[in-house]
Amino acid sequence: MTATPSPERLLEDLNPSQREAVTTTSGPLAIIAGAGSGKTRVISRRAAYAIEIGVIPADQILLVTFTDKAAGEMVDRMAAMGHRGVLARTFHAAALAQLRHFWPSRHDGGPLPAILDSKLRLIVPLVGRLPGGYRFTPGKDLADTIEWAKVRRIRPQRWVADGGDRAPIPADLFARLYRDYERAKAEAGLLDFEDMLVETVELLERDLEAATLVRSRKRWFSVDEYQDTNPLSERLLELWLGESRDLAVVGDPDQTIYTFTGATPDFLLGFAERHPGAPVVTLAQNYRSSPQILEFANRVVAGGGESTRGALRATHPDGPPPSVGRYADPDAELAGVVTWIRAVAAAGVALTETAVLVRVNAQLPAIEDALTRAGIGFTVRGQRFFDRREIREALALLRRVRLTEVGGALAAAFERLLVERMGLDDVAADAGHEGRERAASLELLLGIVEDLAAADSVLTIDAVLAELDRRKGAEAAASSDGVNLLTYHRAKGLEWDAVYLPALDEGLLPIRQAKEADEVAEERRLLYVGITRARRFLALSSSSRRPSRFLEELSPARSKSRRGAGEGAPRVRVLPGAPIAAVAVADESVLEALRVWRRERAKADGVPAYVVAHDTTLGEIADVRPRSLPALRRVRGMGPAKLERYGPEILAVIEGAATD
Ligand code: ATP
Ligand code: MG
Repeated sequence: MTATPSPERLLEDLNPSQREAVTTTSGPLAIIAGAGSGKTRVISRRAAYAIEIGVIPADQILLVTFTDKAAGEMVDRMAAMGHRGVLARTFHAAALAQLRHFWPSRHDGGPLPAILDSKLRLIVPLVGRLPGGYRFTPGKDLADTIEWAKVRRIRPQRWVADGGDRAPIPADLFARLYRDYERAKAEAGLLDFEDMLVETVELLERDLEAATLVRSRKRWFSVDEYQDTNPLSERLLELWLGESRDLAVVGDPDQTIYTFTGATPDFLLGFAERHPGAPVVTLAQNYRSSPQILEFANRVVAGGGESTRGALRATHPDGPPPSVGRYADPDAELAGVVTWIRAVAAAGVALTETAVLVRVNAQLPAIEDALTRAGIGFTVRGQRFFDRREIREALALLRRVRLTEVGGALAAAFERLLVERMGLDDVAADAGHEGRERAASLELLLGIVEDLAAADSVLTIDAVLAELDRRKGAEAAASSDGVNLLTYHRAKGLEWDAVYLPALDEGLLPIRQAKEADEVAEERRLLYVGITRARRFLALSSSSRRPSRFLEELSPARSKSRRGAGEGAPRVRVLPGAPIAAVAVADESVLEALRVWRRERAKADGVPAYVVAHDTTLGEIADVRPRSLPALRRVRGMGPAKLERYGPEILAVIEGAATD
């Protein structure tokens, strides 16, 4: 038998503010603090402390996390402190468990309906019935808008009044589609992801017996990453709480990165108002990163205007200055990523303590490829490219349709297939989060086929399928322990010794579709999340003619004028590869000229504009402004057939716009 450990041990290595938070074990509490300040650590310590001093039994605690993975880690942390059996769950998982429990007794013994795995299954047929060009709207964007409406509890009949112009199609059309979607779902006897929360909310609102039982089970709550909560989950939380006041929330408004799903930091910032008397603890010290890394993080936040809390203060000793690289082209940048990973490994960092973060999943295959060729192991966190739904669908389509063209004509036929059958069209330029992921993966797949066609003028569909199968196998096999590859969104809450942020290009971060100030601000917060994942080593780079405006803010000229050449100013090291001297300024006139050309050419050929070129392709051409056919060929979406048909005209348009 070991002696019962003293709860005081849980406080020993905490700073005074963290200790205050941990020892405030009853009533409402908000912790609003920057990245790496120990918020997640405080949540677990506080729960352990509350159990040990007898404030609450372990089995009456619910720790709400943002992902299942974070829930698992929370359970591990609690177990490490000697507390097994503390429940940590996402809102959805906790709600689903409650629904499962109550459903049969409330529905004549019937089991809980199946959960709809993807809204697209029901939405796609409805999209096909939309009038005119709207039938090309990517289903996923409509699904995102439905999700946005549902977490805000806006029903179809209220959409026109309350939804505004948020939908990618006119409000009245969307309202009808949303209504039909709900109907189709009800007829199929299914629940979707938000319904899990909606149904639980309605159960607890209407059914006093259920509410009383639920409230008697769990009475003490913490919510991590509360800046990304939404009105629906907030309502659920209120219902779980009932009369209890034991709710602690922690978050960082500067890490709000899920507004596209209806999330808002308002609940975090307004917590003290909604819970009068609630203490609001701020944690100013950062325990994760070197001062050099925090300097970058602070400047990214400051660049967006006022910060909602003070700058992050380092507790760690100095580390190496972050590397900022500009490369001549994407291949040079990938080589730079490999060189850097080898360099930090040589400095003693394990590959598993290294991460490369990207804006969209479709950026990953090129990195996977470069690492495979360099013999560096990696793990894709999240979905692998060939496991993605649209890629599986596209491959199935290719197998079914059996295109008979060869070479460039085959690539062109494949593109038509993607446009006509999978919605890869210029609507994607306004796509929502998943819509962008989807468009980017399909474009990447098209790019692979175009590259194959460029190398083989008699390329057949069988050769394409064989090559894609080979790559799929390689991707599945190569995934092992090693460098972590994931998106910024998935990296939330995590940390590594070394973090590389490649492709800090205008169009990727900020993503092209982010136009309004609030959208750009969210992109800025993504970069802040990315930078603050790193403990000691950080690298940022671009290979675009238009590096990210955020990278510009971190450039040496800026740091000099702000800080003088003095100590502590991050030194910028230009990595191997030809650095780019001048930064091109966004040139809308070139884009406009290209659009005019496309319109005329489409009219002359009697085809829709997207057949000539996608919006994303035109945008990239306007960014890069190629002066030769080979340079134009490197633009995504410019396959051999397009190059032959339109290349000279496009070059002439660029030439003309430049001399105007
Ligand atoms: P994020 O905003 O990124 O989610 P966070 O505020 O939740 O960050 P944690 O992940 O809890 O921060 O803590 C960051 C790191 O600092 C962790 O490795 C944690 O163990 C460590 N840490 C936190 N507080 C202290 C402390 N008082 N002393 C030593 N290390 C600490
Ligand atoms: Mg955290």
